[in-house]
Amino acid sequence: MTTTIPFDNSLTALGPDFFSYQAPEPAPAPKLIAYNDALGTELGIEKGSDDDLAAVFGGASAPNGAEPLAQLYAGHQFGNYNPQLGDGRAVLVGEVIDSKGMRRDIQLKGSGRTPYSRGGDGKAWLGPVLREYVVSEAMHALGIPTTRALAAVSTGEQVFRETPLPGAIITRTAASHIRVGTFQVFSARGQYEQLQKLTDYTIARHYPNADGPEALLQSAMDAQSKLIPAWMGVGFIHGVMNTDNCQIAGETIDYGPCAFMDAYASDRVFSSIDRNGRYAFSNQPDIAVWNMAQLATSLVPLMPQTDAAIARFTEMLHDMKDNLRREWLAVFAAKLGIAAAGEDDGVLAADLLAMMEDDDADFTNAFRALSQGAGKDHFKDQARYKKWHDQWQERISDAPDASSLMLARNPALIPRNHRIEEMITAAVAGDFAPFHRLNDALGAPFDDAEDYADLKKAPARDEIVPATFCGT
Ligand code: AMP
Ligand code: MG
Repeated sequence: MTTTIPFDNSLTALGPDFFSYQAPEPAPAPKLIAYNDALGTELGIEKGSDDDLAAVFGGASAPNGAEPLAQLYAGHQFGNYNPQLGDGRAVLVGEVIDSKGMRRDIQLKGSGRTPYSRGGDGKAWLGPVLREYVVSEAMHALGIPTTRALAAVSTGEQVFRETPLPGAIITRTAASHIRVGTFQVFSARGQYEQLQKLTDYTIARHYPNADGPEALLQSAMDAQSKLIPAWMGVGFIHGVMNTDNCQIAGETIDYGPCAFMDAYASDRVFSSIDRNGRYAFSNQPDIAVWNMAQLATSLVPLMPQTDAAIARFTEMLHDMKDNLRREWLAVFAAKLGIAAAGEDDGVLAADLLAMMEDDDADFTNAFRALSQGAGKDHFKDQARYKKWHDQWQERISDAPDASSLMLARNPALIPRNHRIEEMITAAVAGDFAPFHRLNDALGAPFDDAEDYADLKKAPARDEIVPATFCGT
């Protein structure tokens, strides 16, 4: 049986200034690693046999209605503007309207060169493909906006990084792949007609109530102001928050050298390429504002009065900082069982985080234990802990639902770095059992089931993975 996908493509109507038609390169010997059945059903896909799924999501066969293309964008990478990036190793095969009426992109990543590949091979190896699969699905299960993983296929081909590695392709879905960098490329080139067209398209697709560029900017800011505190609430560090990895619809996108923290440290960095800590854990809100400033700059040419637009956008960026702070407070107060946060709760949360940092407490396990009345074991300085604990107990003494709120906001399980590395090592050796087990476990991150007790443990000293690599 063959796979059918109910494509309903809209981006193609923007015309050739926005993308290049580009078919994926057929994988020589595609083999299905995983197919996300529940997501496929949501998208209205009728799946064929495993071999057919491998052919479709390995780029070897295109279902009816596919119009594969690579999108153009630019972006600031670590603060430096790169005038042309674009999908260098990804193709959008088409869009579908999902069961909730939402338009979703279906994109193959790792399927060969495109006009935007520059020096790259357009390929991906198994490690980053499985990492993105597991982490993006975990993010979804944690209730955080994200692209999703639909399929993973091994290509039967070797890709060359430092050494030869098994090639793979991930198929992901996204609300769209429109990024800050998509606006930047047209604005920087002075192509204002295209910029206007992109703005109209983005508004219609993501923020139909927005009445122009200013409202679009506000909507994108609001989405980021929700997203980044949500990341912080689960200890997530994106690692490469470049403007080309900042999506206008507000989903987490482009899982590269990302990681979830084990022991809490406010300045934690994992990415081996982030030498100055630009994208460190606590720096993420400031970087989101910086990214939105680039979007604002890109949109200025569409505004009737330049000076007034700059003044207004500056004010909006200022408000975004306050908004991020409010969202951060709401997230961390809820983690402490407080549904309606007040300013003092920020001090309570900050004191706890400082104590965690000093005592090397595991971020996830300490919060989960606090939700279960067993926080004490996670701290070394017991006197300090008791003092904080008393204050906290007093604060939530009149909040009867504190415990259920905490259990719903403090996951028992996150995709820990050492487990991901272990899973990748096994998969490279041909054993995909740890990959499937991780996926199964992470589908219910708020579950205390004993079956996955091993995956909940913080890494032992010799298991800690201190850095992650882009490894594209
Ligand atoms: P990233 O840092 O993964 O967001 O990618 C930044 C840019 O590099 C994007 O334009 C990618 O498409 C491109 N890129 C990354 N890896 C490759 C590759 N192996 N081949 C071609 N282009 C790539
Ligand atoms: Mg990217």
